[in-house]
Amino acid sequence: MERITWDQYFMAQSHLLALRSTCTRLAVGATIVRDKRIIAGGYNGSIAGGAHCTDEGCYVIDNHCMRTIHAEMNAILQCAKFGIPTEGAEIYVTHFPCLHCCKAIIQSGIKAVYYAQDYKNHPFALELFQQANVLVKQVPFDIENIYLFLQKR
Ligand SMILES: [Zn+2]
Ligand SMILES: [Zn+2]
Repeated sequence: MERITWDQYFMAQSHLLALRSTCTRLAVGATIVRDKRIIAGGYNGSIAGGAHCTDEGCYVIDNHCMRTIHAEMNAILQCAKFGIPTEGAEIYVTHFPCLHCCKAIIQSGIKAVYYAQDYKNHPFALELFQQANVLVKQVPFDIENIYLFLQKR
């Protein structure tokens, strides 16, 4: 029996998480994986219990929404909260990470970043990832292929 690839499976999880986003500007999802197991996930949204952009509008400063925590940060912080090591882990994200998330990813010991879509890819982020020996690879999300698999079963 044919199976979907690990890359598509984790990328699908990140895209599902993005559907939970509460920011109206962009919906992002992130999945942290270790030894082919999902250890954490996140999407961009307000702090727990906080007002949502979808209800109160975005809180924009210098063209960035300040109300939300980015998906990658939320996933990393979930590991911090529950004491889960991120050293040597991998992260699957729907969009290329911003500079802040890039630094957090490197600092948390994550060794590979798989992203589906380009998003304002900052050259300094790429430079930092290279310096830190973090593998960065675009893995387009093939939702049509997922539908085909769902229909076949
Ligand atoms: Zn927002
Ligand atoms: Zn970010």
